[in-house]
Amino acid sequence: MGRIHVLSETVANQIAAGEVVERPASVVKEMLENSLDAGATRIKISVEAGGKKLIQITDNGCGMVRDDAMLAFERHATSKIKNAEDLLSVATLGFRGEALPTIASVSRLRLETRAEEDAAGTVVEINGGKIARVEEAGLPLGTSITVRDLFFNTPARKKFLKAESTELSHIALLVTHCALAYPEKHFELHSAANAMLVAPPVAGYSERIYQVFGKQMLDQLIPLASRKALERGGLPEPPPWRRRSESGAVASAENASSEDSAVREPESFGEIRIHGFVSKPEIQKLNRNSIFMFVNGRTIRDRLLQHALTEAYRNIIPPTVYPVVLLFLELPAGEVDVNVHPAKTEVRFRQQSVMHDFVRDSVRAALMKARPVPQFVTEMRAHATAGTSLTPGAMTADLTTGAIARQSWEAAPGASFAGDIANFPGLAEDAGPGEPSDPVPAGGFALHAPVPPPLSPRLQFEGGIAVEASAAIPIARELETIPDNGCASALEVREEEPTLSALSTLQPLGQIRNSFILAVDEDGLWIVDQHVAHERVLFERILKQRAAQKVESQRLLMPIVLELSPAQHAVFREISDELQYNGFEAEPFGARTVAVKLAPAGVDASAVEKMLQELLEQFSREEQSLNLEKIRARIAASIACHAAIKVNMPLEQHKMEWLLAELAKTDHPYACPHGRPVVLRYSMKDIQKAFKRI
Ligand code: ADP
Ligand code: MG
Repeated sequence: MGRIHVLSETVANQIAAGEVVERPASVVKEMLENSLDAGATRIKISVEAGGKKLIQITDNGCGMVRDDAMLAFERHATSKIKNAEDLLSVATLGFRGEALPTIASVSRLRLETRAEEDAAGTVVEINGGKIARVEEAGLPLGTSITVRDLFFNTPARKKFLKAESTELSHIALLVTHCALAYPEKHFELHSAANAMLVAPPVAGYSERIYQVFGKQMLDQLIPLASRKALERGGLPEPPPWRRRSESGAVASAENASSEDSAVREPESFGEIRIHGFVSKPEIQKLNRNSIFMFVNGRTIRDRLLQHALTEAYRNIIPPTVYPVVLLFLELPAGEVDVNVHPAKTEVRFRQQSVMHDFVRDSVRAALMKARPVPQFVTEMRAHATAGTSLTPGAMTADLTTGAIARQSWEAAPGASFAGDIANFPGLAEDAGPGEPSDPVPAGGFALHAPVPPPLSPRLQFEGGIAVEASAAIPIARELETIPDNGCASALEVREEEPTLSALSTLQPLGQIRNSFILAVDEDGLWIVDQHVAHERVLFERILKQRAAQKVESQRLLMPIVLELSPAQHAVFREISDELQYNGFEAEPFGARTVAVKLAPAGVDASAVEKMLQELLEQFSREEQSLNLEKIRARIAASIACHAAIKVNMPLEQHKMEWLLAELAKTDHPYACPHGRPVVLRYSMKDIQKAFKRI
């Protein structure tokens, strides 16, 4: 007798559940997608015990007629596609017909639904995949699904669930995603008796960000929007050596002689669009939890797009931190394969490099255009709370009980978001390999007043910036009782924020410890790190000179002889051409020894050895393969660092003016090549606020 048999439907569903339903948040995701696909404008989710005990989702969508309500639990039953071709143009979030049967196979599920065409609604109850009850009931229009005791019949899976707080954090992050993507809809998330998110419809994305994360977050974001016409359909990419000839001169020469170019009709392949928000460079998060990306309305995680973001922020923020990003990509359905992952969290673009470069260039352009100035206070806070908070200091969630303690909340009226998504402990595990998880908030940064009296432990700046008790503000508070007879009237403040182009018109006052330049203009006080400022200037100059093959070098009086380790030697051989283009001349001198005769201009001879050692060491530790762009940037950064003005170096007035003017001319005056900030600004508004004038 043969040994093979077909698995029962229930077992098949339980196996599928392994892929589709990983945790309570996956149930929420599938249900949310179904509600959105059903055209719901109001979706309410309630959970208990992080969704382990109960998940209930109620919508006002189209509902299901009685027959459909039964059919929905059949494997591969869907109303969204009919045949394989439809897969190429899926316009709904769901299409696999798997979610309901698989969820029903691993939980106790109750469906209540009514479609407009039915007078009465339908109730279906299924326990562990077995139908327990089907009956008619008077129900409102729409659908409500209650999922209890997830994985009650698959104890092995249940064991893998994390703490309630972790599971809850995943659910909250997911609902936040949805709320951000659909600002015109009403979302609510409740955990036991706590309202975690209540977001009524708003006019647009920025209003939604304001509603969900608060004003301060919105202020730190730069809006972006761009579009690009596709040059071809989603055909496989030609190999790189063919790609250039497509648009370049070779193509026109080829086309002139080829007959088929005349035959081919000019076609339109649609366009790709991107809109959303990216954070200013001073916002630095320690994991990716504040990166929200959507492709055609679908929440996705995508390495390709992640890489595009890293590239866009290269040399603007350090490579170990992440920005806050909210991006919506729209492209023709045929350009993206949504059926590559059972939980539909990944997609495959048919024109990968086009997408990658489009995202990278759009984000980069937005950053370049804004040239935002790091705010003095924001900068401090950004470091103090790096990566811990999307709503700094606004709320704290007691995750063990699910209780939310309200502190000072300044979100839009009628909306609230309790709990700090990025700060939920469980989400740290989403950090990619090697990424550190967020530390416990270190508390606010202190603006030190000369004599700090011990006052209340922690106060809130407007927008939730936490300031330690030693700050100037609490001191001013003590004076509040003395009537103010107009001696502290507010000075006029310019409405729009200055950009870094203002650097060239600043008046330098002097240096602090011969290291930081203090400069002022009408709009505030600026502090410039002289070393990193010069480093940025040199870095960009060297890259430009390198591109023009015009890097200046100097002949060393005595050649420097370097002994290299085998690993360093291997790297040296790989990058020696590039070193030469950057002004070095180094010749082999024995087995693993090289003699350096020329070095880039500006680098002190005594620093040349250290610099080369550092570079080779850095490259030999690199795990990913080196590309030319990376090598060039690293070499330029290293030369810039060693040739730049040092700290503890007195500068004359004209030298400071020169440095500021040069810095203003750079493409990215706000960060050094390693991503550290160059400039801090203490705006008139901040100054007046601290002095309690406004
Ligand atoms: P899919 O979403 O891939 O079609 P599901 O198993 O998630 O598969 O759902 C099966 C079908 O049940 C859907 O195609 C839809 O017709 C119906 N359905 C599920 N949830 C809802 C809902 N909230 N409102 C209306 N119809 C729904
Ligand atoms: Mg579905």
